[in-house]
Amino acid sequence: MKVVEANFEEIKTSSLYKKIELAGRTCYKSENNITDTSAIDFTKRIMSYNHGSVLEHARLVLEILNEELYLKIKALNLNFITLTNISKPIISFNFRTFYNLFLNKENYPILNSLFAFISEKYNEVLPLLKDDFHDYKLLDFADVLNLTNIEKDKHLFISIRLICDRGVSHELVRHRLASFSQESTRYCNYSKDKFLHEITFIKPLNLTEEQTQIWFEAMQEAEKSYFKLIDNQAKPEQARSVLPNSLKTEVVTTCSLEEWKLIFDLRCSSKAHPDIRYLMQKVQAYFKERGYL
Ligand SMILES: Cc1cc2nc3c(=O)[nH]c(=O)nc-3n(C[C@H](O)[C@H](O)[C@H](O)COP(=O)(O)OP(=O)(O)OC[C@H]3O[C@@H](n4cnc5c(N)ncnc54)[C@H](O)[C@@H]3O)c2cc1C
Repeated sequence: MKVVEANFEEIKTSSLYKKIELAGRTCYKSENNITDTSAIDFTKRIMSYNHGSVLEHARLVLEILNEELYLKIKALNLNFITLTNISKPIISFNFRTFYNLFLNKENYPILNSLFAFISEKYNEVLPLLKDDFHDYKLLDFADVLNLTNIEKDKHLFISIRLICDRGVSHELVRHRLASFSQESTRYCNYSKDKFLHEITFIKPLNLTEEQTQIWFEAMQEAEKSYFKLIDNQAKPEQARSVLPNSLKTEVVTTCSLEEWKLIFDLRCSSKAHPDIRYLMQKVQAYFKERGYL
């Protein structure tokens, strides 16, 4: 068995496909299959499997260059689309939302130039549509960082890979406005070479020496039982039943700055569980350091 510390890293890439691949492969822990060219095929597979939640990690932010069009889109009152008109008309959405609209494009003629614009940018995974696509300008991460504070709250989406225990991850996924892709105890078989035939745990904070010893023995026992079940032909989805809350997990979490602020408010407070507080305080400090807050 292995014991690691809770930690995090930002998933920062300007490639929509890479973002989807990095988030999606977290579920299977198949990052070893990443190559220079694997992201597009991975994205296509995710789209064809209807595994839409992975597509939520890729966010597109666009300036609408035609105010009348902005008002028409606003009047549609579409779900999961964020529209603001503070410094300029801006629309943002994740790739899942876009793809769902795209699949039903005949119902949304007002969005024809948006469909054409995005299909031209991402023609590796979308059929190219012919239309006038000069109504939009794609904003990159730096452009979004330079928007006003209210616009940043709504349109700046940040993806963080959180490495924590399953107890903390259960608290995390209660934040309904975020998107998550989590290491799967169904798809991951910890008896395989890839996992070095061992299970990784995260030790709870603030245990005394004696409590640490009791915890350590319980983890050893859980690991032993898991491998015994696997040796007895149990599937990982069955063997996982003996794994404890301290099991290490990875959760790629993507949400707006506004939602991250709410998460920090709730989870950095003295009322929060010490393990999630420790992690969220670290993430919050990082956000400050990067100028997101
Ligand atoms: C210290 C602490 C103790 C907790 N203890 C428990 C517990 O004992 N049992 C338990 O079940 N949970 C517990 N929770 C989880 C808690 O109840 C929330 O589920 C979690 O904190 C998510 O917060 P939220 O609902 O405000 O925000 P999110 O889910 O992050 O949503 C963001 C915001 O969107 C809005 N929103 C989202 N969905 C809806 C909706 N359907 N309707 C209206 N508005 C919506 C709200 O304004 C919300 O604040 C605890 C949380 C904390 C921090």
